Amino acid sequence: MAKAPSPTGWGPVRKELQRARGARRLVPWAILSAFLGWSLISVAARNWRAGLPLLGGGLLFALVIRALAIPHCPACGKNLWLRGERPGPPTAPVPTQVERDRKCPRCGAGLDG
Ligand SMILES: [Zn+2]
Repeated sequence: MAKAPSPTGWGPVRKELQRARGARRLVPWAILSAFLGWSLISVAARNWRAGLPLLGGGLLFALVIRALAIPHCPACGKNLWLRGERPGPPTAPVPTQVERDRKCPRCGAGLDG
């Protein structure tokens, strides 16, 4: 049972996971600041509609960060984290399925090179 050699190895995958962890932490802040900006402008303008463009832009920004918070498998490109997994922050990472097995939970490709 020889493992197929991965063109990338574990290093880049680990970096991808840490990058996604970092982005993941920012998602609630992006959403919070969108609502904060909206409420500040709405109060200042005495019109709840005044801040809507800011809210829309802020939520769009949060969506972009949410997309960056997904680590992609170098083999199949799918999410390396399973639904409901809590990978934790980059400073205190919680090992996920992919880190225990060192292979993609979706396509089964070996990721440790
Ligand atoms: Zn995969």
